[in-house]
Amino acid sequence: RVAAKPSRRIIVGIWFAIPLWKRVVGALLLGVVAGLVWGPGAESIKIVGDVFIAFIKMLVVPLIFLSVVSGVASIGDLRKLGSVGWRALLLFLLTSQVAVWLGLALGTVFTPGLGVDTSAIVRGDPPAPSEATWRDMLLGVIPQSPVQVMADANVLPLIVFALLVGVGIVMAKEEGGPVARLFDSGAVVMQKVTILVMELTPFGVFALMAWVAGTLGRDALVALAQVVALNYLGCFLIIGLVYASLIRFVAKLPVVDFFRGMADAIAVAYSTASSSATLPVTLRCTQRNLGVSAPTSSFVVSLGATINMDGTAMYLGLATLFGAQLFGVPLDLGDYILVSVLATLGSIGAAGIPGSGLIMMALVFGAVGVPLETIAFVAGIDRIMDMMRTATNVTGDGTVTTTVAALVGDIDRGEMISADDV
Ligand code: ASP
Repeated sequence: RVAAKPSRRIIVGIWFAIPLWKRVVGALLLGVVAGLVWGPGAESIKIVGDVFIAFIKMLVVPLIFLSVVSGVASIGDLRKLGSVGWRALLLFLLTSQVAVWLGLALGTVFTPGLGVDTSAIVRGDPPAPSEATWRDMLLGVIPQSPVQVMADANVLPLIVFALLVGVGIVMAKEEGGPVARLFDSGAVVMQKVTILVMELTPFGVFALMAWVAGTLGRDALVALAQVVALNYLGCFLIIGLVYASLIRFVAKLPVVDFFRGMADAIAVAYSTASSSATLPVTLRCTQRNLGVSAPTSSFVVSLGATINMDGTAMYLGLATLFGAQLFGVPLDLGDYILVSVLATLGSIGAAGIPGSGLIMMALVFGAVGVPLETIAFVAGIDRIMDMMRTATNVTGDGTVTTTVAALVGDIDRGEMISADDV
């Protein structure tokens, strides 16, 4: 037993020396193989995936609450930046809306969730379409008792309450300072807790993939592969069409130079799946490579890392349709509009850390009656999609920062690296 200890330490050392995303991708592949070999018996290890998802659910309320409050409180500082601030906010919201409608369009056109027999995993009938009237819905978003709302993890009224608390902090000016700092620090602490929970990802992913592959078979794997492909396609379209157009036609800057300038940040975002962790690199890229002034870039980039997540917004739209198709939940135009609002709120509420897009799914799914089982279904493939979402989110932060800086004449074009530099 004494001799076993050093070897155990070596195994643990090797485990943590491998970057998390590589462990997750390995677990995903192994899980698929295990499920295909094992068949329906793989259901027995789903409990490991359920534990992982239970921990994720644990994070929903504190993470959303703290990050929305601290995000809104920091928007308050926008006033100080005047024209830069409002332009940035407008572009953040506009690009998020375009992104979520793109996700909805991709899901509607390619219907990745149709054709999978989910009867093995749905207990009972699919949920009946909501019969709530608009009066019920209106009352439902008012956080009558904030504590109750938190206890029930009722995300929509929770966000409304968080938005109001954020606005209250802004209105309270200096007197609100201590509360603002409390929320800021609380948000950072919850991000660390999330990072701890994310260490469970390889185990959860292995179990969930084995379960999906074992009980639902190849059809389900094909459907999941389609979701991954659509997630990448959506992100490429946002970057290649929306961002490139903003840079070309609004900022009137050379598109190739912009992407070359942002390359480091995009690479770090892709490998870390965290906008927050990429923040220092994004700052360096916008300032040193793109020539944006330090005050503008530090403000817009940091705000963007918290509230601007177009890749996440697009994915939330796509994933909602996937879940609806999977479980036969009819969605009408009203639901699409609700999803577009909620996915935008969700992308604002999502922290810039790995897996937070997954956490936000509960918000959107709950509101339009998509079963939360969908989360278990897609959790296994989330990390590879998260990497691309994050690369998109960070490129979006750089795009908005550069565009706004160009609009207000706060960019030094002489500093911008150009294709001739190499
Ligand atoms: N990981 C993403 C980010 O940090 C958020 C997400 O999960 O979509 O930007």
